[in-house]
Parts: sequence; C-alpha cells; structure tokens
Amino acid sequence: MMPFTLLIMILIAFPVSSNGGKWGYNGPNGEHHWPKHFPYCGGAFQSPVNFQPELLRYDPNLFAIQLQNYNLSSREQLTLSNNGHSVQLSLPSYMQLTGLPHRYSAAQLHFHWGTQNVQAGSEHTVNGKQFAAEMHVVHFNSGKYPNISMAVDKSDGLAVLGVFIEVGEFNPAFEKFFKYVNGIKYRDQKVQVPAFNIRELLPSRLDEYYRYDGSLTTPPCFPSVLWTVFRQPVTISLRQYLALATALYSSHAQEVAPMPMLGNYRKPQLMDNRVVLVSFQDGDFTWMSWGSLISIVMASGLGLLLFIAFCWCLLRKRSEADQEKFGADGFHPSERQEKISRV
Ligand SMILES: [Zn+2]
Repeated sequence: MMPFTLLIMILIAFPVSSNGGKWGYNGPNGEHHWPKHFPYCGGAFQSPVNFQPELLRYDPNLFAIQLQNYNLSSREQLTLSNNGHSVQLSLPSYMQLTGLPHRYSAAQLHFHWGTQNVQAGSEHTVNGKQFAAEMHVVHFNSGKYPNISMAVDKSDGLAVLGVFIEVGEFNPAFEKFFKYVNGIKYRDQKVQVPAFNIRELLPSRLDEYYRYDGSLTTPPCFPSVLWTVFRQPVTISLRQYLALATALYSSHAQEVAPMPMLGNYRKPQLMDNRVVLVSFQDGDFTWMSWGSLISIVMASGLGLLLFIAFCWCLLRKRSEADQEKFGADGFHPSERQEKISRV
C-alpha cells in the first residue's frame, strides 16, 4: 500500500493535469498561464484575496480555533521535503481542528515567501499590505472523507490555517525544522525531523481571524478550502527568513541550471460576490465597511448643513420681523420722530 505521506506528496507536491502541465511562478509557467492546464485556476472562489476593509463583516459567532493533539512527541518523526514549489512538513492525521462545521485532520504545512531583497511574499494581504511570508497548515474534512485525496476537490473538503510571518525576533519554534533545510535544497529531497509542538508555530491569539471560502493557491486551484487566516502575525529573524529565501531550489540536484525557489506566492484574486467574515472588531472601524463609514460621515455633514441653514433662516426671519417692527434704521417709529424733532 502507498504510504499516506507519499500519497499526500503526490497530491500536493506534484499536482499535474491530465496533459501533464507544469507550473511555476514566473515566465511561461507563471500564474497567468495556470488556467490553460488547470481550469479551476481561472474560475470562481479563488485564493488568496486581499482583506480590504469594505469586504469585512464582523461575525460574533466566530469563536477561537480549537486545536487537538498539536503537541507532538519528539519521539515521532515528521518528513520535511522540497516539492519543487515550497518546503513542506508532513503532519499526522490525529492532529485535528474542532469548532468548525466539520472535523478536520491535519495533512501538512508549507510556506510562501518573497525574495532575498524583497521581504514580501505572503499570499493573503491586509488592505494591500503584504507580509514577508505566509504559512499554511492544511487539513482535510475527516468527518466526511477518508483521506485528503478524496477531500481535495470537494467544496467542503479542506480547511487551511494561514499565518502571516514578519521579519523580526528570532523564532525558536520554526528553528526546529528550519535547521534542516540545507538537507532538502533540491526538488524531491526529504529528511526526517523530530516532531515538536506545532501550536508554537501559530500566533498566541487564535480568536482573531479572517474567514472565507476559497481555493488551493496552487494548481489545480480546487475551490475546496475553508480559509482561516489569523490576524496576528508571527515573527522569524532575518537569518531564518533568508534560510527560506536563499537555501532552496525548485530544480533537481542533477539539473545544470539551478532554479532558486523564491517569490512562490500567488497574487490576490477577485472577490466576486464573496465577503470575508472577521471574528474581531475594534475602534479603527476595520470591522465596518468604508462604504458605510463614508455614508455616515456624509449623512452627518448633511445634517449639520441643514441645521446651519435652519438657524440662518430663523435668524433672518427674526431680523426681518425686527426691521418691520423698528424700521430700516433700527429705531422704533416714536423714537425716530423724537430723533428728527431733536435735529
Ligand atoms: Zn499554500
């Protein structure tokens, strides 16, 4: 029987279409050419997306993500591999997510990043801001499907946790497998690494996140992902970032022209009619659409203008009434008579 991890590798690492289309992030195999061989890439419900304020809707029913069995024993081994598109760490299926509409089991995690000089390689963006890198922890709907291969093309098949990564403080949790990347510099290489607490790779706050329906961000782009992207980023040091951005190649070891693995992110896709639910609200109106904010400001401005116009009319009416009463020169008729008689 094919080992489960190998099955995942074939599905996620080498997703080729029936005509064997190759794909990458640049040139003739770049993302604009994906739909030719992978029609879903040109279809609806695609990922990633830009979380712009007018798309966000606060949903009070979105509770903190619940993780089960994320604290793996160091006696267990995980497979770290270079699949030609990313660096990937296999995960055991007893790691699970609960509190979602279905039960989801983990399969693997992998990364997207920028280049050595441009530390901007996240796939999702927040109001146009791109983070240095992004981690995806891929789970499949194990409540409904027996394995990831059965789930990957189903509309309720996958749930992916997205984590924004910034360059900053050194992150000891990421070092637990980053220190092995020199052993998987070339495509198809893999090493075994001791397991650790995968929770440590996630941000401290699991209660603040963006939630929407989307797709795999790599071919074949099946629209099968329930996305949860955490609001709070995690940090890795510059040296750790450069381990991703300079140590890896998307080509095989025996190829004469090595192809550096960098800029392996897809650009934001159209929202169509989707909205992004958010589990948080705060004072900077990110939960409120800019459209409604502008409406409120305009309505308030109009109200103020009407009030000023009303006051002005009222004052004008009073002044006209006074003029009728006292005459144009402001004197009461008897006073005027008195004044004239004095001259
Ligand atoms: Zn990904």
